[in-house]
Amino acid sequence: MRFVDEAVITARAGKGGNGCVSFRREKFVPRGGPDGGNGGDGGSVYAKASTRLLSLYDFRLRRQYEAGNGQGGMGSQCDGRKGDDLTLELPVGTQLYERSAGGEVLLADLSEPDQTVLLARGGRGGKGNEHFKSATMRAPRFAQKGEPGEERTLRLELKILADAGLLGLPNAGKSTFLSRVSAARPKIADYPFTTLTPNLGVLMDEYDPDRRMVIADIPGLIEGAHAGLGLGDRFLRHVERTRFLVHILSVEDVPMEGENPWAGFDLINDELAAFDPELAARRQIEVVNKMDLRSPEERAALEARAGADGRRVFFVSAKENWGLDALVKEMWAMRDELAPHEALLRCADETPVDDDISDVEVIWVRE
Ligand code: GDP
Ligand code: MG
Repeated sequence: MRFVDEAVITARAGKGGNGCVSFRREKFVPRGGPDGGNGGDGGSVYAKASTRLLSLYDFRLRRQYEAGNGQGGMGSQCDGRKGDDLTLELPVGTQLYERSAGGEVLLADLSEPDQTVLLARGGRGGKGNEHFKSATMRAPRFAQKGEPGEERTLRLELKILADAGLLGLPNAGKSTFLSRVSAARPKIADYPFTTLTPNLGVLMDEYDPDRRMVIADIPGLIEGAHAGLGLGDRFLRHVERTRFLVHILSVEDVPMEGENPWAGFDLINDELAAFDPELAARRQIEVVNKMDLRSPEERAALEARAGADGRRVFFVSAKENWGLDALVKEMWAMRDELAPHEALLRCADETPVDDDISDVEVIWVRE
């Protein structure tokens, strides 16, 4: 599944069924009265907010949505059946804009679970000829046509708040971590800047599918990024909009001896502070990854050192799946503790949806 922020669809309601022209036929009654039934109303298209959905991806694959047509009226005063309604389930948080030649109007904001809105009303069924009979018109030879259903072009937009931002130098193992802990499968490769666009992974609470945590994998920061020297500047904006940061450092960047083995963390934090002090002050979980590259003795020594330095560090191996449970537990705790950041995660506007990464789970979010 890929997560997408935006889709344009058309919703077409069903046409009303035509009324029927018919006359009774009975034995010994050469010419009976009118008995044409009414056409059924066309079905309507509705949208309903659901907490089970996370993306608008399906609406990119399929763009046309039609409700059923009403059935035509029949003889013997039989009315046609109503057309089937169609209800589109959309993720909570989806906004629906109606598109027309004049521009766009916000039609609805699906902010509550199960909230339902009418997108396109079904056409009314036409009256059968029986309806038109009167003292002066005993045998109307006409009936009413069904009305066409409404048709609307809609732009769906989903804004997703990221709970956690992954932070760290290229190759620290952010994408690997994300793929381990979430449903996402980001691109992983052996060179820096593998992650050229932010992508999001989603963790579901297995006991409560409505509770989830969105993690943004941010492309590697490079030194000097705040000065616009590298990719970082453009991407730092994404971390601005998260409740907390998960700061990942490769153990390769943690010297076994020396003054400050944690200088790697400080380097990135200096970057953040130069870019935005408020951001640098945001809560962080510090993680040292790739612990599988160290011997058991070295691992023990590093953990002891962190304790001695009064630093709470999670030591993990994303590759070997070591220590991830404890880390994820801490992330849930922070997610629940900290208020969501009002501003929203935003994808760099200039970045188009890259179709050749179809195996990658990406949420593209635009403000
Ligand atoms: P990112 O740039 O921070 O997203 O890093 P990636 O997740 O793309 O990982 C960079 C490289 O490090 C890849 O070759 C990964 O296979 C490798 N890697 C990631 N986590 C670990 C780990 O825990 N142990 C080891 N040995 N390698 C890892
Ligand atoms: Mg990456």
